[in-house]
Amino acid sequence: MSSIIQLLPDHVANQIAAGEVVQRPASVVKELLENAVDAKASEIKLIIKDAGKTLIQVVDNGVGMSVTDARLCFERHATSKIRKAEDLFQLHTKGFRGEALASIAAIAHIELKTKQEQDELGTHLIIEGSKFLSQEEAVLPKGTSFSVKNLFFNIPARRNFLKSDTIEFRHIVDEFQRVALAHPQIHFSFYHNGSEVYILPQSNPRQRIVTIFAGKTNEKLVPVQEETDILKIDGFVGKPEFSKKNKGEQFFFVNDRFIKSGYLHHALMNAYEGLLKEGAQPSYFLFLNVPPQSIDINIHPTKTEIKFDDEQALYAILRASVKHSLGQFNVAPVLDFDRDANLDTPYHYKNAEVTYPTIQVDSNFNPFAQEKSASYSDKAKIKKQHHYEKERPMPTWESLYVGLKDDTDSIAESSGMQFESEEITTSLFENQDPEPQGNKTYQIQRKYIVNPIKSGMLIVNQNRAHQRILYEQFLGNMTLQQANSQRLLFPLQLHFPSHELHLIRELQPALTSTGFHFEEDTQDVTISGIPANVTESEVRSLLEELLRDLQDGIPGNSFSQSDTIAKSMARSLAVKNGAYLSEKEQENLINGLFACKEPDVSPFQKPTFITMRVEDLDKKFAL
Ligand code: ADP
Ligand code: MG
Repeated sequence: MSSIIQLLPDHVANQIAAGEVVQRPASVVKELLENAVDAKASEIKLIIKDAGKTLIQVVDNGVGMSVTDARLCFERHATSKIRKAEDLFQLHTKGFRGEALASIAAIAHIELKTKQEQDELGTHLIIEGSKFLSQEEAVLPKGTSFSVKNLFFNIPARRNFLKSDTIEFRHIVDEFQRVALAHPQIHFSFYHNGSEVYILPQSNPRQRIVTIFAGKTNEKLVPVQEETDILKIDGFVGKPEFSKKNKGEQFFFVNDRFIKSGYLHHALMNAYEGLLKEGAQPSYFLFLNVPPQSIDINIHPTKTEIKFDDEQALYAILRASVKHSLGQFNVAPVLDFDRDANLDTPYHYKNAEVTYPTIQVDSNFNPFAQEKSASYSDKAKIKKQHHYEKERPMPTWESLYVGLKDDTDSIAESSGMQFESEEITTSLFENQDPEPQGNKTYQIQRKYIVNPIKSGMLIVNQNRAHQRILYEQFLGNMTLQQANSQRLLFPLQLHFPSHELHLIRELQPALTSTGFHFEEDTQDVTISGIPANVTESEVRSLLEELLRDLQDGIPGNSFSQSDTIAKSMARSLAVKNGAYLSEKEQENLINGLFACKEPDVSPFQKPTFITMRVEDLDKKFAL
């Protein structure tokens, strides 16, 4: 039988390898930035177009390459960083596999310009899908510029698999931040579609963090420092009161390389024990230094996971030093056994003026009213002032029994409280009501709206129904470009980190079509008009949630940016389960829902209502 095994041609092997190294534009950004750092650049510029799908360019002022190296660097396993197997255990560079450039060249159009300091002329080289098209001498500054165009041009399946520009951009921002945080001594700049995302001048670690994350970052950082034989820690953790809902600001670097480690994260969370609210995520920027031979970086192709020799010891040291820092900076409750806690004056009394106690007499006091209010007390709740104001308190069932005049109103007024109504029970007395009932609606558990219909009854989920209504409204406004907007008396100034600012600018046309008005401003987002159905206090969280949805991708697979925006805004603004709805509001909700094009599902494809037919009820009673 004839032999059938053949060696794969290089360009095929490279394409296969590319699948591992290059998952998305952000992977190229990572490799190119790391190469520039390894080339000892003091200034690195990242330029991308269309979230890297059209262009990724990295320009550095590092050591550059010779004519031969410029060609050799695209060969597989071509590297200047290791020579023998032992070198793998003494790594001081980011790269070492020598396969990034070979992989990228197999699936994109590349232009390389590079010159070493001592050379007169540099090299200009063009390569497309592993094929060399040209190599010429050129007058160039010292350093290297890599342009990677039309990524995955020869693998359409891969290209189609890429996510929206917003999501791909977010991945690139992540990679950029990781490299920039680990190398504050390097000047970084970053441009997307011609506009500036970050300019990070050379600085120190703390300043670098603050420049990237902007806002109040400086106030919230607590330094962490520790040095032992097996581990040196430097960096910062966030004060617990500044913790966030998401894990956006959590960074571990090991020997200046960003890594992910569930184990170390656990150690850190452990140090915060008792200081965080449920689900809160602290910020941390921790730089760990360990002897290179005590780690193995090689276990993951994209190299964000590493293996430590002595994980348990690292866990203990990390936990203890973070705990110590939190305590030292007075953020953890400190126990001091020598002090009598009874002598401590609560802080806010310390500098307060002494006032004499006074007695206030309520001249309208009525002991009977008092008694009555006590019987309500367990149902009374201080109601948060919100959008859905109660129009008219419903009679309570006690009053119907006792036959007294309902005075919930006066109690509510005098105590500043409002009462939850027992609306369901009023229906028991429906036939005592002289007025015809019509098509009455009831709210159950502040969550479902029940409405008798011809065939039985309709049960609507208030939150999902409202999401559907708002979603169709926003989508309609965006396509017709005729949203109602309310002008703000005082424009609202909101602060966002640079990359989010950049995103908001990109979203401006779409947001304007929902009713937002923006004023041109370089540092902040200034909003002078908001959609008619949004209140001023909702704007910030609305935009924050929107940015998060756009960057993480929204559930339900949105097909366009406007769709994602409409979904996200609908979810943020929809009346929540748990909110009281007046009868009028319940009615509007049901009418609004059935005026929708697709009333039966929420924008996230969940059912908005169910019906129960009389037959179903009959069956239940037949048991
Ligand atoms: P690795 O980084 O693992 O060595 P790469 O494929 O990323 O592999 O790069 C191959 C080689 O090309 C590097 O070892 C380095 O010698 C050279 N090189 C790549 N980028 C640059 C750059 N920006 N400046 C100078 N040399 C570079
Ligand atoms: Mg490399």
